[in-house]
Amino acid sequence: MTLPALESLLIKTAGIFCSFPCPGCGNPLPEGERANSFCRECKEKIRFITPPFCPGCGGELDGALAVCSKCMREEKRQWLEAVSLFGMEGMGRILLHRFKFYNTPELARPLARLASEALERARTEFDVIVPVPLHWTRRFMRGFNQSRLMASLISEFTGKPCEGMLARTRMGRIQSRLTREERKKNLIGAFSLKKGANCKKRNILLVDDVMTTGSTLSAASAELLKSGASAVNVFVLARR
Ligand SMILES: [Zn+2]
Ligand SMILES: [Zn+2]
Repeated sequence: MTLPALESLLIKTAGIFCSFPCPGCGNPLPEGERANSFCRECKEKIRFITPPFCPGCGGELDGALAVCSKCMREEKRQWLEAVSLFGMEGMGRILLHRFKFYNTPELARPLARLASEALERARTEFDVIVPVPLHWTRRFMRGFNQSRLMASLISEFTGKPCEGMLARTRMGRIQSRLTREERKKNLIGAFSLKKGANCKKRNILLVDDVMTTGSTLSAASAELLKSGASAVNVFVLARR
C-alpha cells in the first residue's frame, strides 16, 4: 500500500470512530472530513475575498480602476502584490480576534490551510516566508507572535522555508490608535534586518495578520528591499 493510500485509509478510519470538531463553532465535522478544516456553515459565514482582486491590498476591486478605492488614497506601496483571505467583518472578524489574542493552534492550522490555497490560486511566487515581527515587549505580553505562527504554518503547507529575518527595533505606539500621518512617523526606523539574515536576491512573502492602511507592511517591505531582496509580496489574513 502506498503512503498516500495508507494516509487516506487512516483518515477514513479515524472518521468512523471519532469526528473532528470544527475550529470555528466546535460542532463535529461530518464523517471523513479532515481535521484542520472549517465546517460548511462556518465557511459560509466568512466573507472570503473573491476576484477581481486589488493588487494593492489583495482586497476586492470596487470600481473600474486598477486598484480599490482604499488603495487610491494611499501612497504607492513597496510590495508587488498582496493577497488577503477575508474581509474584517462577521465570522472573519471573530476568527481573527480569537487567533490574534489567544494562542489557538487548532484555529491557526485551518486558517493557514486556507491561506496556502489562496496563495496558490493567486499564483503568488516566493521562495522564503518572512513574518512581520512584534517588538519583544509586546510579544512577551501576548505570549506569542501571531504572524510568526501563521508564517510557520504556511511554510508547512507550502514547503517553502520560513525565516524570521526582521526585528522590530522600536516599540512605537499601537498603530490602530493612530492617524494615517502618525502611523507613518511611528514606523520610521521601526524594522531592521537581523544579524546574519540574508535576503539578497530572494523573493519574499511577507506575512501579517491584518492590513489596515498597509503602512506597517510597507515599512517592513522597504527594509527587506533596501537589504537586497529581489521582490516582496504580501499575505494577510484580513483586510480591514
Ligand atoms: Zn463550524
Ligand atoms: Zn486595495
